[in-house]
Amino acid sequence: MPSDTLPSGALFKCRKCGECCRGYGGTYLTDNDIKGISRYIESEPKKFIDQYCSRSGNRPVLAQREDGYCIFWDQLCTIHPVKPLMCRKWPFLESILIDSNNWQIMADSCPGIQADVAVDTLEKYVRQMILQKWRT
Ligand code: SF4
Ligand code: SF4
Repeated sequence: MPSDTLPSGALFKCRKCGECCRGYGGTYLTDNDIKGISRYIESEPKKFIDQYCSRSGNRPVLAQREDGYCIFWDQLCTIHPVKPLMCRKWPFLESILIDSNNWQIMADSCPGIQADVAVDTLEKYVRQMILQKWRT
């Protein structure tokens, strides 16, 4: 029976360039992110926030080094198994289903994204990926 799903990796394959780990206004952390990362680096949530985070309004975000990279970037993500939800979701964001132009904007900064794709294919694929991996 023919499959109605697109193969994983059809529209996105990470090149591990680190561009998404630099700048862009900070990586927000959920409570689960804070617990998971603290455990992974063998710290305590409060200590982790004090040492590795800054604030955006009331919310903790991962701190950035002077060169603009995330504090956990070192040629790769050093907390990959527990990286924040925001990082794990990329680039399959609900905002693409609201406005597909967001995909093109994201592709400008992410070489892993295949930019030239029909809108109906894109929306179907993003829905598929959100359903498969990110719906909680
Ligand atoms: S910018 Fe894109 S290709 Fe580069 S590391 Fe981030 S997700 Fe991967
Ligand atoms: S947590 Fe990892 S994937 Fe997320 S911005 Fe930092 S280095 Fe990049």
